[in-house]
Amino acid sequence: MANKVIEIRNLTYRYGSRVALADVNLAIYEQEFIGLLGPNGSGKTTLLKVILGLLPVKDGEVLLFGTPLNRFNEWQRIGYVSQKANSFNSSFPVSVFEVVSMGLFGRKGLFARLNEQDERAVLAALKLVGLEGYEKRTIGMLSGGEQQRVFIARALVNNPDLLILDEPTVGIDIEATNLFYQLLDRLNREHGLTIILVSHDVGVVSNKVTNILCLNKQLLYCGQPEFFNEKSMEMLQKVYGDNMELVNHDHHGHDHYFHPHQRTAPEQTSAEQSSAREEE
Ligand code: ADP
Repeated sequence: MANKVIEIRNLTYRYGSRVALADVNLAIYEQEFIGLLGPNGSGKTTLLKVILGLLPVKDGEVLLFGTPLNRFNEWQRIGYVSQKANSFNSSFPVSVFEVVSMGLFGRKGLFARLNEQDERAVLAALKLVGLEGYEKRTIGMLSGGEQQRVFIARALVNNPDLLILDEPTVGIDIEATNLFYQLLDRLNREHGLTIILVSHDVGVVSNKVTNILCLNKQLLYCGQPEFFNEKSMEMLQKVYGDNMELVNHDHHGHDHYFHPHQRTAPEQTSAEQSSAREEE
């Protein structure tokens, strides 16, 4: 059975008194391609920030690659492309090589010199996204779609196991969007990368991913895209509002979600379960 990349148990996140995530439980497994869907303000960015260690978890548990978040330090295993990534204007005097090499700074320190191996990593990442030979070009002179691929290359330069992209197709034309999805498909299938793609575009994303997570503070749906479409999202929100919980088992037999009121996770051993029961 595949390993868990992310496991979240009973996570509630509040900004002051405002609840942004309510009792979220989920598991993401190696080599899955997840579409994280939800309307504006549904907590998608908050969930990503929690996973990236940018927000403190006070209520609930988060494990990355099996390690509790507060002890996790292998951040190079996670590549992130933010929503604001491709907003360089044409006068921004930075080369494609420099932008991609910024992805190494977390590991190397901001003023470290790049060695030959680093340079090779930058060129390999550019090749992976189909931008071989672009390294000397000025980032601002590239099209929106090309800039986006440069940022994906930056996120890939440390050879991560998990790639997270936040609303990446905003402002990109259809042709570039198609290329973008082809690239993600290749990274997922051929390079075994686990991917989380945040989007509001249910129609498009449902056709590309292996699993859908639908969030509206609570996790409304977690499972295969075949059973999910635009109508399901509207319906789920209308019918269940804030009180919706759905369980779905995928065809690999993975349990992606366990009911928050269930005291023990499905994969716990009987010893753990009995000790949980003793605590009750
Ligand atoms: P999404 O990414 O799905 O649009 P967010 O995670 O950005 O949703 O926001 C979830 C909720 O939390 C929203 O109601 C938003 O207004 C609120 N929120 C987000 N960031 C902050 C913040 N820094 N301070 C207070 N409230 C916030």
